Amino acid sequence: EGIFESYRFYKKNPDLVLVDTKLIAQAPARFFASGIADALATWVEVRSVVAFGGQTMAGGRPTIAAQAIAKRCEEVLFEHGRLAYESVQAQVVTPALEAVVEANTLLSGLGFESGGLAAAHAIHNGFTALDGEIHHLTHGEKVAFGTLVQLALEEHPQEEIERYIALYTDLGLPVTLEDVKLKDASREDIVKVGEAATAEGETIHSGFNVTADEVADAIIAADRYSKAYQAKRKQ
Ligand SMILES: [Zn+2]
Repeated sequence: EGIFESYRFYKKNPDLVLVDTKLIAQAPARFFASGIADALATWVEVRSVVAFGGQTMAGGRPTIAAQAIAKRCEEVLFEHGRLAYESVQAQVVTPALEAVVEANTLLSGLGFESGGLAAAHAIHNGFTALDGEIHHLTHGEKVAFGTLVQLALEEHPQEEIERYIALYTDLGLPVTLEDVKLKDASREDIVKVGEAATAEGETIHSGFNVTADEVADAIIAADRYSKAYQAKRKQ
């Protein structure tokens, strides 16, 4: 455990990615949901890189193809994510599961590679600045909350933010600071996450011109938005 160190790049992409959906259907649903969360960050991050005029991790501009793929990735996840999650819990292969496996693996991979990362993954990395229970969460679970934080940094209508909170909630993904084991974190701790998320070289700078303090505010806002949504849903 400790501060996020680096991304590892390889000279060559794999010759083949083979995914047996029968095997995926037998795996823990939590891992499957985590994959959905990671893939759901793709379009949110790509569109912010495009709007900001930022670069991909390879140092190029996002391609139109990557944008189209990333956007379709998100659509597939909203259309089929819940049914696919149910399929995995029932350990059965369905068209919904097949579609989401393609979105999680191929669409997210291609969309991210030629589209870029922004705040959601930088905030994920920023969490490494804190010790404790949060590190028992999966990559995708932390990215889920990071995505909500990125959405809170941006200007969106309430329904748009709640669309994500609702999907994450249905998939058992974390949406509050309590869910990411940071219920008792102080403002100072949250600012530390903001500082790590805005460190030099972080992907947040591909999509945003923000300070650590602004990221801290967005983290607290994201938590609050989710709690307000939950309170509304209980009524
Ligand atoms: Zn990721």
